Amino acid sequence: MSETPSDTPKTPEIYKCCENPQITYLAPVNINVDEKTIGTVDVWRCASCKKKFCEEKQLGIDSITDIVGMPRIGDDEKWGVIISKLQKGKDKWKLVRLKQNGIIKYETVDEKILDLKIEDYKIVDDYHSSFLIEDHLNRAVEI
Ligand SMILES: [Zn+2]
Repeated sequence: MSETPSDTPKTPEIYKCCENPQITYLAPVNINVDEKTIGTVDVWRCASCKKKFCEEKQLGIDSITDIVGMPRIGDDEKWGVIISKLQKGKDKWKLVRLKQNGIIKYETVDEKILDLKIEDYKIVDDYHSSFLIEDHLNRAVEI
């Protein structure tokens, strides 16, 4: 099993973020556990409007095909990863959209919905933490 795909991923179906979308691959962020990559977030960017799009990939699982194009992100949101201290392996992380402040509804592996508090684009919680994708482009993050 190769850890880092050597080919640049193909441009996904154009996502209509603006009048003239020019979406290109920007960078990966690898998610590591014990120095092993267990997943990747692929980051794409529109050259016209500068919006970023992210795609979550669990290692060994093909890309999430039910999201055609990529999920929309609001102007007041940033891409982030929530890390759960209560889970292990692939269930330990999840790609989310974080607002600057407020509450995020977070669905756990056993389908419970938790209200997690966000302060300045960061989860503030005893059992969950987070980081922003834009701060870790081309890097691996140990979770
Ligand atoms: Zn655009």
